[in-house]
Amino acid sequence: MSTAEVSRSVVGGAAMAHGVIEQVARGSADLATQTDTAARLPQTPVYNLASRRRLPKHAPIGDPMTKLSMNEDLPFDEATTPPRVSTGELPTHAEVRQFVTDAYERYRGDNSGTVADYIPVLSEASPDLFGISVVGPWGRSFEIGDVDERFSIQSVSKPFVFALVCDAIGYEAARLRLGVNSTGFPFNSLMAVELNAERTMNPLVNAGAMATTSLVPGATPDQKWESIRERLSMFAGRELTINAEVYASESATNMRNQGIAHLLKSYERLYFDPDETTDIYTRQCSLDVTVHDLAVMAATLANGGVNPTTGETVIRPGVCRRVLAVMASAGLYELSGDWLYQIGVPGKSGVSGGIVTVSPGKGGLATYSPPLDAAGNSFRGQLATKYLAERLGLNLFASVPAEGPPPQF
Ligand code: GLN
Repeated sequence: MSTAEVSRSVVGGAAMAHGVIEQVARGSADLATQTDTAARLPQTPVYNLASRRRLPKHAPIGDPMTKLSMNEDLPFDEATTPPRVSTGELPTHAEVRQFVTDAYERYRGDNSGTVADYIPVLSEASPDLFGISVVGPWGRSFEIGDVDERFSIQSVSKPFVFALVCDAIGYEAARLRLGVNSTGFPFNSLMAVELNAERTMNPLVNAGAMATTSLVPGATPDQKWESIRERLSMFAGRELTINAEVYASESATNMRNQGIAHLLKSYERLYFDPDETTDIYTRQCSLDVTVHDLAVMAATLANGGVNPTTGETVIRPGVCRRVLAVMASAGLYELSGDWLYQIGVPGKSGVSGGIVTVSPGKGGLATYSPPLDAAGNSFRGQLATKYLAERLGLNLFASVPAEGPPPQF
């Protein structure tokens, strides 16, 4: 075990002001309760208010292939009216240090979960590995445990590649082409593709993630790959490289992902060659990171898209908030609702054992521990994140009744 405490130059910060609330209502079919009837149904049109197609008098409620779409024309234009942002702060450095140390000591002996083995080389990771890192919006960090251990990023890459695609094609176009609702199915589900009229439901499960990868800028596979590697390196604040062993191991066993890519292509919901896309996606999942890298990447999303350790602008603030919205609804696969209910912060997990958590304006938290639950989420990571979300005040939904004289409103 090693501990490290790092202070970095002050280059960024989160804007703070009293907030406005944007609220929209939406509906979505509950796929979790449906059986595989979709394949037998005729194709039902997609009702999309943006395209101004007329809704039928009686929308076929309960039709599993119907997609309800929210009003595309909500009168709010971020380009001309910068939205107000209201956030909070992490506790003092001493408190962060204390709570992170407590979380580490409390859960390091918990032996629940199993190390992933469907990508053969991942099964070689020690189940005892455990590291935690917190990075604040000014680049200050505290970390403990196996913080120098390198591991493949796996699905934690997905929100960051989604961010780069939003940046390239616009977050509204990205939503329309990829979706932003949770699937209720495992991350590598083909059922989720078959049962959903739009085919991809969000960029954080494999189908939507590969569709996202297919939209990355670049005319050739190498150009797309370089776009990904370069941007994820900017998120991490250092040059990321591929773990050749993991890449070879997953490439030899990723037939299911190849199947998903071809299925999407058959529905014209993949935007590049399916075999090349699967390969680029596999490379993206094989990028080597440490738990500190993940916390910096998370802190960049917490800091309006500016990497707090380098001062570099990686992504626009408007993209940041969309990425976090999708992480909140789909970051932990079919357990995303449970995660949000219990922890209350956008997060993203990966099968190598990493989890990133982002508390807007406050900072990024990352955990690494290979044993997973049945959905593929790190066990110790979830425990430590829950503990820390409460102690560090990360939960987005938490409030206490007002006290004292009213300051303004
Ligand atoms: N590369 C892995 C896969 O596609 C990523 C899965 C994950 O981390 N959940 O199966």
